[in-house]
Amino acid sequence: MNRDIVIVGAGLAGLSAARALRNSAPLVLEKEARVGGLAASKHVDGFTFDYSGHLLHVNSARIRRLVDTLLPGALRAVTRRAGILMEGRLIDYPFQANIRFLSKPQQKECLLGLIETAGTALSRGEREGLSFHDWLLACFGRGIFRLFMEPYNRKLFQTDLRRLSSEWTGWAIPRPPLEEVIDQLLGIRKHDYGYNTTFLYPKRGGIELLPQALARGVREIRLGAEVTRIDVPARRLTLKSGEQIRYERLISTMPLKALVGLSRGVPPEIRRAGRGLKHVSVRVVNLGLRRKPATRKHWFYIPEARFTPYRVGLYANFAPRTVPVGCGSAYVEIARGAGTRLARDQAKRAAIALLREMGMLGSARDVVVHDQLDIPCAYVIHDRERRTNLPALQAYYRQNGIFLAGRYGLWSYMGMAETMESGMKAAREAGAQTP
Ligand SMILES: Cc1cc2nc3c(=O)[nH]c(=O)nc-3n(C[C@H](O)[C@H](O)[C@H](O)COP(=O)(O)OP(=O)(O)OC[C@H]3O[C@@H](n4cnc5c(N)ncnc54)[C@H](O)[C@@H]3O)c2cc1C
Repeated sequence: MNRDIVIVGAGLAGLSAARALRNSAPLVLEKEARVGGLAASKHVDGFTFDYSGHLLHVNSARIRRLVDTLLPGALRAVTRRAGILMEGRLIDYPFQANIRFLSKPQQKECLLGLIETAGTALSRGEREGLSFHDWLLACFGRGIFRLFMEPYNRKLFQTDLRRLSSEWTGWAIPRPPLEEVIDQLLGIRKHDYGYNTTFLYPKRGGIELLPQALARGVREIRLGAEVTRIDVPARRLTLKSGEQIRYERLISTMPLKALVGLSRGVPPEIRRAGRGLKHVSVRVVNLGLRRKPATRKHWFYIPEARFTPYRVGLYANFAPRTVPVGCGSAYVEIARGAGTRLARDQAKRAAIALLREMGMLGSARDVVVHDQLDIPCAYVIHDRERRTNLPALQAYYRQNGIFLAGRYGLWSYMGMAETMESGMKAAREAGAQTP
């Protein structure tokens, strides 16, 4: 079979690319039996779960317009209520702006660190030269680093923060001015920070509504069609079924590391660059609860090493219709090194112990539904190697008619909105390249 444009993956990136290219009739290949990728939802006995809470943070007017067109009136805007479990207490997030909840010696330690670092204005070049570890210290000082930033991020990324780079941090980790931290500490004025202060979520159902709406505008999506081999110089791919498809241009949203793994005819330096990409896996423990937990917060960060999970969220607090009347539900996220095993029972026990410690669950008998989802490639690791490997991979594939898109296609820390943008950008690039 010969096709002009083929898109691998029917997650948000692939579907956004396909929608943008709908006049060119692209073929979308998806290995799963449903669209959505990580933005899919799962329904179990009256509870709706996502691949952990997927909240839509939109900073781009273009994506906002697209979402409003796709789902008119279907989304609710929610103002974030997030917290942190710290030494047995639930305090407000973000940590760096809410040191008022700490003990006096801890407040002093954090404040001294903030004062020491207040004058540090890092240019983009300077920031990119620092490891994530050094960037955190330069921005927040020792106290905030020691109490929250280091333990939380080590748990999430499962590695020493000296091995991570910091070019991705600007949008993800807000740096409040010292004066505003003092305002909050003294109770003068409240401020809020971060890319996720408000978010959109469906009024009914899970986040799957978004990819499903995108998919309705795409003519040809083949589900259960796993790409197992790509002969790059010949521009030919093979499906698990054995079928071969020749393409002129391909948009790949599958994990870049996997793309390199199944590419044939690539030079050794490209194979090496692919092997150098690192990531962490996440297990999501979804729990349906007999009762609503006694908190209005949407989610909590868990920095302390004595708990295995790094984050817990409460669907019903931002999406009441995802649970049966009177019930609650929670997602508990556990990060682990890529390729390491985590027994199902162990994950469940860790999730329940955490919810009990947080006072959100009386006893394990209050868990009426238990489900687990595995995300083998969940967070890509931004390290120095990635900084050189990614441009080399991108350039090589582009020369061969393959355009990378999405959080894993581009091996970049991106939310759903950025992922959609990246799909649309790849569509423009692929559309502009004459076969
Ligand atoms: C734990 C967690 C929580 C998150 N929470 C949020 C949040 O609250 N808000 C937010 O904005 N973002 C969140 N994200 C990020 C968000 O999930 C992603 O940005 C987005 O869903 C990625 O979409 P994508 O299309 O790039 O990739 P994917 O969703 O991974 O889609 C890729 C698709 O390619 C398919 N595929 C892979 N290999 C093949 C193959 N060989 N052949 C055919 N098909 C293949 C896959 O099955 C998949 O459907 C979260 C991510 C994680 C891991």
